[in-house]
Amino acid sequence: MDNRTLRSKSCRFCEAKVSAVDYKDVKTLRSYVTERGKMISRRVSGSCARHHRMVDTAIQRARNIALLPFADD
Ligand SMILES: [Zn+2]
Repeated sequence: MDNRTLRSKSCRFCEAKVSAVDYKDVKTLRSYVTERGKMISRRVSGSCARHHRMVDTAIQRARNIALLPFADD
């Protein structure tokens, strides 16, 4: 069985045709960080490289205005 064909496209931002990730959308961002505030890896989240980077930037912005906690490590 080929795993790559099974989950070829699971980036939910691509599916929703999102062109920019809103850093104020804490509800969405929270599903991309662990409880300790660490961003989950791309392999786990299923995001494409483009959107993963957008989420990463959005999380950093959200942290700077205290919407999200900083990573614990
Ligand atoms: Zn994507």
